[in-house]
Amino acid sequence: MRPRPLRLLVTLLLACCLAACADGAAAPVNGSPGVGDPLFPTAGNGGYDVGHYGLDLSYDPPSGRIEATAALTATAREPLASFDLDLSGLTVTSVTVGGRSADFSRKGTELVVTPAQPLPAGRRFETTVVYQGVPGLLTDPDGSQEGWFHTDDGGALALGEPVGSMAWFPGDDHPSDKATYDITVTVPHPMTVVANGELAGTAPRPGGRTAFHWHVAQPMATYLATVAIGDYTVQRSRTASGLPVYTAVDPRSDDPQTAASLARIPEIVDWESSIFGPFPFSSTGAVVAHLGDRQGGYALETQNRPTFPGNEGTPAVPVTTLVHELSHEWFGDWVTPHNWQDIWLNEGFATYTEWLWKDHEGVATEEQSAQAAFADADNWAFAPASPDAKQVFAPAVYGRGALVLHELRRALGDKAFFRMLRAWPAAHPYGNASTQEFTAFCADFTGKNLTPLFATWLYGRARPAHL
Ligand code: ZN
Repeated sequence: MRPRPLRLLVTLLLACCLAACADGAAAPVNGSPGVGDPLFPTAGNGGYDVGHYGLDLSYDPPSGRIEATAALTATAREPLASFDLDLSGLTVTSVTVGGRSADFSRKGTELVVTPAQPLPAGRRFETTVVYQGVPGLLTDPDGSQEGWFHTDDGGALALGEPVGSMAWFPGDDHPSDKATYDITVTVPHPMTVVANGELAGTAPRPGGRTAFHWHVAQPMATYLATVAIGDYTVQRSRTASGLPVYTAVDPRSDDPQTAASLARIPEIVDWESSIFGPFPFSSTGAVVAHLGDRQGGYALETQNRPTFPGNEGTPAVPVTTLVHELSHEWFGDWVTPHNWQDIWLNEGFATYTEWLWKDHEGVATEEQSAQAAFADADNWAFAPASPDAKQVFAPAVYGRGALVLHELRRALGDKAFFRMLRAWPAAHPYGNASTQEFTAFCADFTGKNLTPLFATWLYGRARPAHL
C-alpha cells in the first residue's frame, strides 16, 4: 500500500512527539513578551531570569550617540525556542546566544531573540547584544518622561522608573527580575561618569577618552540603574560606621541649600539605619545633575545613591527629598515591589519616613503630617493598593500609603510597629514582595487581625469620618 501523504505527516509528527516525550523534555516555547504586570503588560519578559548585566557604552557628546554591547547572563525557566528583551529605539546590529549568532527581530519595545538551538529549562546562557544610536525618552501613561535625558552641556542622565531602562540597554525591564551589574561608560576628557555601585576603576582609551567602570555587587532592579555623564564635582567621605559616601554634583546645580543637604547624608543614613536596620548596600551618596528647565525628570532612588535632576528655579536637593530618596534604599531597592501596582510599598514608606524626619527635626509632629495628609482630598482619589497606570505616582500612593503606616503604628504601639518596620525589608533582602505579602507579614508578625485596618486604609476608597 502506498502511504498517503496525510498519514505520513501524522506518523512523522507522532514520532517527533514521542521522541520529545521520551526525552522527558517539554516542547520549547516562545518566551512571553511581558511578565504579566497589571499596569505595564509588556514590561519584562517571560521564560528566563537575568543574573548579571555587563553593559559597555561608548558615548559621543556632540551627537549624543552610544555604541554599546550588553552581555546578559540569564537562566532559562522553561525550554525556550525564543525569548524577548525589552529595548526602545536604537539599532541592533548583532545578537549572540552562548557564543553563537542568533536571529533577532524588533516589534515595538520587544527585541525577539531566536537562538540557533532551543534553550533547555534550567540552562544558564549568555546573550550579547551589539547596538547603537541616540537613546531617547519614553512617555508614561501619566505623561511623565523617563529614559535617557540629554543635558544641555552634552552630557546625559538615565532615569528609569518605571520602564525607562529599556531606552539605553536591552533587558528584562521589570522590578521582579533583579541582577548584579557592571556598567562601563567611555567618555571624552574631561567628562565624568557616575553610575550605581562602586567605581571599580578608570582606564585610558584611544583618542583621549576614559572608561569608567562601575560595579554593582548587590542585586538591582532595572529601573534603579543609572548613568550620569557630565561635569561633576566628586566628593568622597564615610559615615560614622564606615560606609563609603560618594557624591557627584554638577556645579550649575550647586546651590547653598543643596550643599547643606548633601553634607547631611552621613547623618541621614545613620538616622535611617537606626530605625530601619543597617544600610543594605556597599556604598551610598547622591548624584545632582543639571537637566535645566527645558526638561522634566524626577528625583529617583537609584540604587546606592539617589539621583536629582537639578531643574532650575528650585534648590536641587531639599533635605526632605533627600531623606525620602535615601529611605527608598531600604523600601524599594532592598525589598522591591513585586509589580507596579505594589508601588505604595515604596512611596508610602518613603513619605512616612519624611514624617518621621520632620518629627525628629521638630518641624511637624508625625500626627500633624498625618492630619494634613488625611485632610488632602487628592489622597482620597483612589485606594493606594490599586492605582491604574496613570496613577502610579499620584498623591494617594504617597500620602494614603503613609497613612496606612500611621494607622498601623496607632494599632500596634510604637514598640511593635518599629520592630515590624525593621523586620519587613529584612524578610525579603535583595528580593521582591507584594502588597498581599505585606499584609500577611503584618498579621503574622503581630498576631493581630488587621483586616479591617487594611480594608479601610489600604483597599478602601472612601475617607473615614476621622483619622
Ligand atoms: Zn519616592
